[in-house]
Amino acid sequence: MAKIQMKTPLVEMDGDEMTRIIWQTIKDDLICPFVDLKTEYYDLGLENRNATDDAVTIESAEATKRLGVAVKCATITPNAARMDEYDLKEMWKSPNGTIRAMLDGTVFRTPIVVKGIEPCVRNWVKPITIARHAYGDVYKNTEIRVPGPGKVELVFTGDDGTEIRDLVFQFEGPGVAQGMHNLDASIASFATSCFEYALDTKQDLWFATKDTISKKYDHRFKDVFQEIYDDKYAARFEEAGIEYFYTLIDDAVARVMKADGGFIWACKNYDGDVMSDMVSSAFGSLAMMTSVLVSPAGVYEYEAAHGTVQRHYYKHLEGKETSTNSVATIFAWSGALRKRGELDELPELVAFADRLEKATLDTIEAGEMTGDLARITSLPNPTTLSTGDFIKAIARRLAA
Ligand code: NAD
Repeated sequence: MAKIQMKTPLVEMDGDEMTRIIWQTIKDDLICPFVDLKTEYYDLGLENRNATDDAVTIESAEATKRLGVAVKCATITPNAARMDEYDLKEMWKSPNGTIRAMLDGTVFRTPIVVKGIEPCVRNWVKPITIARHAYGDVYKNTEIRVPGPGKVELVFTGDDGTEIRDLVFQFEGPGVAQGMHNLDASIASFATSCFEYALDTKQDLWFATKDTISKKYDHRFKDVFQEIYDDKYAARFEEAGIEYFYTLIDDAVARVMKADGGFIWACKNYDGDVMSDMVSSAFGSLAMMTSVLVSPAGVYEYEAAHGTVQRHYYKHLEGKETSTNSVATIFAWSGALRKRGELDELPELVAFADRLEKATLDTIEAGEMTGDLARITSLPNPTTLSTGDFIKAIARRLAA
C-alpha cells in the first residue's frame, strides 16, 4: 500500500520520560507504516534544553509560527529535585509557558469521550472544551497584608500626568488587600483565539464573567468579546450555524451541569484553572484529555494535557512492565495531522487522522485498554494491556 504523502512538515517537539517512550512507539507503529511522515524535529527533552540553554524551545516556537502546526510531547518543568537529577545549569522555565507566550495563544482542553468510560455527570454525552485565558488577574496580582487602621487606595499615574485615584477601603483594623490587572490586547487575543477555534471545530462558544458585580473589570472582558464578535465574527458564526453566548459565571455553571456538552466554554484565568480540573475529573481521566494551543494568528500546537508520567518511567527503567495510557498523545498526533491535511488540502491525511482516532476508540470499546481505564470502565471483564501491547492492538485495527 502506498503511503500517504504530506506537503508541509509538522513541527515535532519531543519530550521526556514515559511520554518520550510512547512518542517513538506511536510514530513507529501507528503513523510511519501509513504516512510518509514529514516533520521538522526539535528535541525538547530536558537534557537537550539544558545543553542548548533552552534555545531549542524558542526555535521550536519560531518554527511553529512559520509552519503553522506543531505536535508536542509532554516535557519536564524543572524543580529543585530535577536540578540534581539532570545536573541542570539553570532551573529552565516551563516549555509550555515559553511557547504559549511566544504564540500569544489560548489553550483548549477537551476530554476524549468513549463508550465504557462514563462521565460522572450522566447528561454530558459530548465533550466540553475549556478555554482558559492565561494572562493576568489574580496570577499577576500584588497583595498587601494591612497591619492596622488606615486606607488602601488604587492609583493610576499616566505617563502624561493624568491621575485616577479610588478608595479601596478605609480599614479600622488589620486585614488584606490586593491589586490585579489585565490588558485589552490580551483579552482581545483570547477572544480572537476562542472565536477562531469555535469556527474551526463548529461548536458554540460560551463566555461568562461576573460583570454585574465587577462593573469595570469583568465588564471590560464582556465588552471586548462582544465588540470583536460584532465586528468580525457574527456573520461567520451565523453562516457556520453556531452561536456565541454570554452569561454570568454562576448561570454558566448551572447551565453546564444540565447541558449535554459539545461546546467551548471560555473562562477567565481563575475560572479556567478551577473548571478545567472539574471537567477533566468528571469525564474520567487526565490521560483522556487533549490540549491544543491556538494563537489569534491561526497557529496550532497539539499535545496531551497530562505530564510525563514520571512514576511509570522509573518502573520502565527498572525493566518492569508498564501500562501507560497513550490515547491523549495519539490524539495530539491525529489532531496535528488532520489540521495539516486541512491546510494543505490533503483529504487522505484528514481521513487517516479520523481512522487513527476510530481505531483507538474501537480498541477501548472492545475491552482492550490500559490499567488506568480498566480500573474505571463500565465494560465487563476488560483486558489490561501493557503500554506497548495497547498501541499494537490499535495498530492491528488500523491495518485491518
Ligand atoms: P502527570 O500528568 O505525569 O501524572 C499525574 C498523575 O496522573 C500520576 O498519578 C500519573 O500516573 C497519572 N497519569 C497521567 N497521565 C497518565 C497516563 N497517560 N497514563 C496513566 N496514568 C497517567 O503529572 P505529574 O506527575 O504532576 O508530573 C510529572 C512531570 O510532568 C513533571 O516533571 C511535570 O513538570 C511534567 N508535566 C508536563 C506537562 C506538559 O508538558 N504539558 C503537564 C503536566 C506536568
